Amino acid sequence: MAAGTGLAALTAPLVTPAPARAAQHLWRWCFQCSGLWFSGNGGNGYCPLGTGLFGWEHPHRSAGSGDYVLRFVDEPGAGQASWVWCRLCSGLWSSSADPSHRRCPTGSLPGGRHDFVNSGHYKLEALPDMTNGPGGQAQWFMCRKCAALFFAGNGPQGVCPAGGSHEHQAGVGFEHVLRQV
Ligand SMILES: [Zn+2]
Ligand SMILES: [Zn+2]
Ligand SMILES: [Zn+2]
Repeated sequence: MAAGTGLAALTAPLVTPAPARAAQHLWRWCFQCSGLWFSGNGGNGYCPLGTGLFGWEHPHRSAGSGDYVLRFVDEPGAGQASWVWCRLCSGLWSSSADPSHRRCPTGSLPGGRHDFVNSGHYKLEALPDMTNGPGGQAQWFMCRKCAALFFAGNGPQGVCPAGGSHEHQAGVGFEHVLRQV
């Protein structure tokens, strides 16, 4: 409708919201390392657990995983906004952790650094502030050794690129909640 038809004065002004940026799905849980990784680029990233005859194949796996949705920091709703994707290993990592605690399983950059170039900036809901209502899957934590996001709800806590299994300390740090499509 063209402006100036006269009808506009009779109705509440139309407020056009900024175009919402769609949340991003195709994030998967890997049953080998228990981490979250992005499957939307075609490849399978690089899992800390090597497989194959000599352990030199490193695909993350998606069997048994839901299709997780992550929100970008500029979307509505609260969340803890320090999460980035590494284009080398395809994992989700906290950028707020001490950089020495970030260990890319590829080992391809000096100091074990990840490569966060081209990453979105993601925010995660955390208990008890469930700003998007009830639902979702709790028991996601940041590993205090490698700063990965990992799922601790299955007992075994996956393979940590810093050695052993991922770890979090009860009562320390956030317990995150992820949602699925
Ligand atoms: Zn994995
Ligand atoms: Zn990495
Ligand atoms: Zn870890």
